[in-house]
Amino acid sequence: MPSPLSKPRHAVVVGGSFAGLCIARALADFVERVTVLDRDRFPDGPHLRTGIPQARHLHVLVTSGQRALDRLFPGLMAELYDRGAVPVAAPTDLLSLSPYGWRERFPATHTLVGASRELLDWTIRQRLAADRRIRFETAREVVGLLPGEDGDSVAGVRLRARDGGPEILPCVADLVVDASGRGSRSPGWLAELGYGRPEETRIDAGLGYASRRYRLAPGVADGWKNIMVMPKPPRVSRGGVLYPIENGRWMVTLGGFGDQAPPTDEAGFLEFTRNLRSPLIYEAIRHAEPDGPIHGFRRTGNHRRHYESMSRWPEGFLVVGDAACAFNPVYGQGMSVAAQTAVVVGEHLRVHRGRLGRAAQAAVAGCSATAWTIATGTDLRFSAAGTVRPGRRGRLSYWYLDRASDVADRDPYVLRVLTDVQHLVRPPAALAHPRVALRVLRGPIRPPLSNPPLSTPPVTAPGRPGAGG
Ligand SMILES: Cc1cc2nc3c(=O)[nH]c(=O)nc-3n(C[C@H](O)[C@H](O)[C@H](O)COP(=O)(O)OP(=O)(O)OC[C@H]3O[C@@H](n4cnc5c(N)ncnc54)[C@H](O)[C@@H]3O)c2cc1C
Repeated sequence: MPSPLSKPRHAVVVGGSFAGLCIARALADFVERVTVLDRDRFPDGPHLRTGIPQARHLHVLVTSGQRALDRLFPGLMAELYDRGAVPVAAPTDLLSLSPYGWRERFPATHTLVGASRELLDWTIRQRLAADRRIRFETAREVVGLLPGEDGDSVAGVRLRARDGGPEILPCVADLVVDASGRGSRSPGWLAELGYGRPEETRIDAGLGYASRRYRLAPGVADGWKNIMVMPKPPRVSRGGVLYPIENGRWMVTLGGFGDQAPPTDEAGFLEFTRNLRSPLIYEAIRHAEPDGPIHGFRRTGNHRRHYESMSRWPEGFLVVGDAACAFNPVYGQGMSVAAQTAVVVGEHLRVHRGRLGRAAQAAVAGCSATAWTIATGTDLRFSAAGTVRPGRRGRLSYWYLDRASDVADRDPYVLRVLTDVQHLVRPPAALAHPRVALRVLRGPIRPPLSNPPLSTPPVTAPGRPGAGG
């Protein structure tokens, strides 16, 4: 164990996906070397890999995540645009059908990064690969933790080389961070060392995804860059998004709750888009060239492991990313919370001179609190299980949120605050500010648009990267 004043020499990160990459960057300033272990092999380029099947689906990086990434990797957003990512001015470039009608295309307040998940990860991996303090070891599956001699810390991990037979090898480290995603085995690893297991909360709205990439016919997307057709629960539980990614390609991601999950066969997929609340996505893709197969995904429930509340916690150990708290992906929060967490852990390491322990785990939990409230607050309402019924206060806040969304479609001020909250740059309490509340309680200022605002609006993009907020 390092003394409080000595610099830990070696940190191990379990999992080299988004959370692992971000935390490796944060750790590198406080240790002599960082080893990122992943059971997968990494492709040599912006390509898909088996270890993160969700990469086949739409990945929106909200403003808080863009800002955190630019702090961890200065200039990263600009680099993504140089590599072909498409800046999408929100709401100006969006054709968005909310539960109440088509949203007006006000001047932009945020920029969405139209990029595939492979491009994001590859760009970050290259930054880390250029850092001599950081090393990737792939095809290494971590199977447990090494206990420290004092009985109160971890001293590394146990791993198996995926092509090397059953032999279990030790990998000694001063700090260990688990970033191995939803399937993390940290609860069992901690129990094996006598620390017990964390309590867990699961709230699953039963959302299913199906996605496919396309090349659109020329001229189809003139005047807009994104179509979003939202569900209208409880009557319509299906929605879809058409979103640009690099190299002139587009991603269609469809979602449906419960038995309304989208099909993954060609005809069923197209039929699903045709039967959304608007056929606009269908019209855009029906003559488009598919760029790959259709993929489905069902593991989308909110899942939180309450490590911060465990009675004992080993020094030198931390759990981050989806391994600690995973969200329903429809809210687009996971990557941004992971990047923000890395910024906060970096600050923690600075203040605590390179040490990680219970306080760091509490800081990690704090980073996911707002996103958890947003995701579960909405999902509890539409939970397939429907086990939790809101009280009077809950019903009032749902009424208020519905009304705020309705007003926001036609009021740029309320839309900006709502979008800030969704992009995790302002807390949900911002929606209760008197200036917002007055507009929300007064109600919509004009009737909803019944047709999509297809013509190009006069005011457009807020500039390339780093807009928003
Ligand atoms: C369908 C879907 C859509 C999503 N859309 C969005 C979105 O729009 N916006 C957004 O911000 N987020 C989105 N997310 C969430 C986002 O994908 C995750 O939050 C993000 O990938 C961070 O996850 P992670 O790095 O913690 O874990 P993961 O991405 O799951 O990666 C875990 C890594 O650990 C490795 N690993 C696992 N076990 C071991 C082991 N024992 N030993 C060694 N290595 C191991 C795996 O190979 C993998 O590389 C979406 C998720 C899903 C499922």
